[in-house]
Amino acid sequence: MATSLLCVPPPQVLLRPLAVPERLLLGPGPSNVPPRILAAGSQQLLGHMHPEVLQVMDEIKAGIQYAFQTQNRLTLAISGTGHCAMEAALLNLLDHGDTALVAVNGIWGQRAADIARRLGANVHELLKPPGEYFTPWDIEEGLVQHKPSVLFITHGESSTGVLQPLEGLGELCHRHGCLLLVDAVASLGGAPIFMDQQEVDVLYSGSQKVLNAPPGSAPISFSERAREKMLRRKTKPLSFYLDMGWLANYWGCDGEPRRYHHTAPINSFFSLREGLAMLAELGLENSWERHRANCTQLCRGLCDLGLELFVKEEKARLPTVTTVRVPKGYDWKDITAFLMDNYAIEIAGGLGPSVGKVLRIGLMGCNSTSGNVDRVLCALRDALGHCRHSRL
Ligand code: PMP
Repeated sequence: MATSLLCVPPPQVLLRPLAVPERLLLGPGPSNVPPRILAAGSQQLLGHMHPEVLQVMDEIKAGIQYAFQTQNRLTLAISGTGHCAMEAALLNLLDHGDTALVAVNGIWGQRAADIARRLGANVHELLKPPGEYFTPWDIEEGLVQHKPSVLFITHGESSTGVLQPLEGLGELCHRHGCLLLVDAVASLGGAPIFMDQQEVDVLYSGSQKVLNAPPGSAPISFSERAREKMLRRKTKPLSFYLDMGWLANYWGCDGEPRRYHHTAPINSFFSLREGLAMLAELGLENSWERHRANCTQLCRGLCDLGLELFVKEEKARLPTVTTVRVPKGYDWKDITAFLMDNYAIEIAGGLGPSVGKVLRIGLMGCNSTSGNVDRVLCALRDALGHCRHSRL
């Protein structure tokens, strides 16, 4: 028998069956995937240029237009997660040397500023403490001072639990010759957003939050103003994969015959299509109301447990992700571990500027139910009884 040339043996870990435990995901995302969406994602593959797949892409586009409340032609799903959409938005909008103003009141502004700097933009940050939101006056001051061509702001700040009011911001930006770019990864479907009426120029989201699909595809849409700015670019976008000219063609947004750009994650698109279909069936207004009501119930329950909500103003609380201060005498890691070990429930600690300060509880899409609120409150009550001073 010939001696093997292989120096690396087959890994033993791969010779065992895949093991995936059952968990209730009540962190800031991903949220659990319902059976209908799981079934869609496990359908047999088709070719990425087959008419049936192109049809599914058209249906996704219509679903995103509904979820975003936009008629924008340039509406599609990026093959990647929310970060990928954030990069796609910034790298297509910003030409080398453009000025960007980034509203930073949590990690997502920090990340957008980092990405914009990597792209060679001239970046100014507008700062607010975590837990607060920006007023139109804050924004106007920044627009007057820095004269940016793009403003980035986060609608649902999932690291701090803040819902940013968007009323008037689009009009304000346009009066100052600036485009409005909004991150709605954590808020889409959970809180009202009206892309066209609110004059948002670029809006993006993710698949794994309220839409209840697995991570890996990210809705995005560009206004006519944004499209015109992209057409005026002096340099090509830095990424081929995320070049909106190519993607617009692949998604049938430019009226030209569709050309192969990349092999789309077809099964992710099947799942996203079903997530959007479920949102369309429920209706946006019902979905917003469901998230509002369950968030209110959760906030009341948390206060009854003696916990302090991180976001003071009720109307500034993000209905999908609730933040509560880590109570004195507790280590947040003990509490999250207790819920995981004893209840198979995921909640999260802080992120970026809120690390060590807060616990984050997510109620998104199908996970936003009154029953889940009761489950997590019951688990937290138990945790508060067991974890006090356990490590401090
Ligand atoms: N923006 C916000 C507001 C988010 O909550 C997230 C995900 N937590 C992202 C962007 C990044 O999305 P992803 O993890 O899918 O890349």
